[in-house]
Amino acid sequence: MAEALRLAERPGFTDAHHDFRAMIRRLVEEEVAPHYATWEEAGAPPRSFYRRLGELGVLGIEVPERWGGSGVEGMRFSAVLSEEASRRGVVFGALRVHTDIVLPYLLRYADDEQLARIMPGFVSGETMTAIAMTEPDTGSDVAGIRTTARRDGDSYVLNGAKTFITGGAHADLVLVVCRTSPPDPADKRHGLSILLVDTTSPGFSVGRRLKKIGLQAQDTAELHFEDVRVPVENVLGAPDVGFGYLTHNLPKERLSIALGSYAAAAGAIELARDYTAARRVFGTALSDFQNTKFVLAECRTETLAAQTLVDRCLELDEQGRLTAADAAVAKLFCTEVQGRVVDRCLQLHGGYGYVTEYPIARLYADARVTRIYGGTSEVLKTIISKAP
Ligand SMILES: Cc1cc2nc3c(=O)[nH]c(=O)nc-3n(C[C@H](O)[C@H](O)[C@H](O)COP(=O)(O)OP(=O)(O)OC[C@H]3O[C@@H](n4cnc5c(N)ncnc54)[C@H](O)[C@@H]3O)c2cc1C
Repeated sequence: MAEALRLAERPGFTDAHHDFRAMIRRLVEEEVAPHYATWEEAGAPPRSFYRRLGELGVLGIEVPERWGGSGVEGMRFSAVLSEEASRRGVVFGALRVHTDIVLPYLLRYADDEQLARIMPGFVSGETMTAIAMTEPDTGSDVAGIRTTARRDGDSYVLNGAKTFITGGAHADLVLVVCRTSPPDPADKRHGLSILLVDTTSPGFSVGRRLKKIGLQAQDTAELHFEDVRVPVENVLGAPDVGFGYLTHNLPKERLSIALGSYAAAAGAIELARDYTAARRVFGTALSDFQNTKFVLAECRTETLAAQTLVDRCLELDEQGRLTAADAAVAKLFCTEVQGRVVDRCLQLHGGYGYVTEYPIARLYADARVTRIYGGTSEVLKTIISKAP
């Protein structure tokens, strides 16, 4: 569908992206869609799926060659993955957290010793990762994090709880944002660190797997830390300055959500086009009604605007010029477009749109959260309004 929406050549997409798209399309048809109901029941894809992504090189696209990857810069392949998943109304479990959110932290802040330990498993799918910022009492206000890590000899002792952690129930390694020094009254942001926590450590436990209205094939879990000993060599970057790392990396996370959102909108349009062409009402193809054509035209217009904005942000990201405000604009706009477009495309399905075996119903349920996680729409507006 993304191709069908294109008014002009999309800048920066090459034959390599087209070949990759064909491979992912086959993967979705042959290895995801037939098993998706089982994944949803289990709340996550099987581990073998991540290893399969590892075999196909998907987990290492942006990993430098010296660490076993392909060394590609930028998120265009990730855009293709999102577009192809959305065409079938599926998600690849917690893949995006692993490759789009955790990886940039590792590549920017981990030292060579940490990368040598982590990267082989990261690229093969043996070591799946998650990132834990949110706590029961602290979501948008990251500086209010209460999970503590107290230095004791050559380790930190970690105590606290996290919630809403994508992929948390299955992760082997979690980047845990915690307080290593008390908040400075003059600067609440100082004193936060990111620890690389091995989930086999004594004292680490997974709490409830949260029951959600969407994203059924992606687990969202509570995590508990009770006197978990984390060796000092597992501090990511320097201690106490983790807030700065989050500020630096959140734009990329938001761009990843934005591209997933326009892709979902594009996927919804494709589903609605196919459905309305096949469905007959009052003796006429549903697609022949002027209302159907107008609704789809409006949806395409909004989605193309979203895609164009994302394409511009992909360029800025590749040039290292994507600002917090740019990413906030992209996430705010694309997620709002996704909400409107998916809703209208569901309406065109009539009652079948409400039945979960139809992919449009899954796209609808999955869409709601994109205006919440990775920074709510309201928080994004505060960022945009502060931009010069
Ligand atoms: C499915 C799912 C997956 C997630 N995955 C992860 C993950 O992998 N890792 C992780 O760390 N977190 C994750 N989250 C958590 C997510 O990032 C938070 O839910 C989000 O940041 C909002 O925090 P909160 O839920 O505490 O809401 P709150 O911060 O309590 O916000 C409640 C309301 O207040 C509004 N609000 C907050 N601040 C302001 C303000 N300054 N001005 C105006 N309004 C404001 C918000 O916009 C919202 O409407 C996930 C959440 C979900 C639902």
